[in-house]
Amino acid sequence: MTERELRVSKIQDGTVIDHIPGGQALNVLAILGVGRATDDTLSIGMNVPSDLMGKKDIVKIEGRELSQEEVDVLSLIAPDATINIVRDFEVVEKHRVERPEQVVGILSCPNHSCITTGNEPVESRFEVLAEGVRCHYCETIVREDITDLIGVE
Ligand SMILES: [Zn+2]
Repeated sequence: MTERELRVSKIQDGTVIDHIPGGQALNVLAILGVGRATDDTLSIGMNVPSDLMGKKDIVKIEGRELSQEEVDVLSLIAPDATINIVRDFEVVEKHRVERPEQVVGILSCPNHSCITTGNEPVESRFEVLAEGVRCHYCETIVREDITDLIGVE
């Protein structure tokens, strides 16, 4: 790890999401629900020079770890992201995201007559395809702009 990377990772307890494709940090925040009022302490690095990726984004969240659902959706827009769990200024856990077989909750189906978008208390469920996602209930396929499905209620 270079000096610069170390400095970037300095939070006391929380999560550092690294190797996010350049320009995607705000979408990552949307996945984490940060758009809706939050008390989380965040810092964001956008278009940070990276040997591996050219440019990358980094998101650091103090005092919070990610749920599996959040990691699953994250993997759709940032397939090479690494999740670093920090405790007492040390990285105690580091792993790559993995594409799940399906994502539950978080994404909303764009089909307005889908059972998950009505008043029924049905949680959204999408199967993850090689490219894109498919609604489990109405089979609508979304290939691009998956982040547009986040937090639409
Ligand atoms: Zn649907």
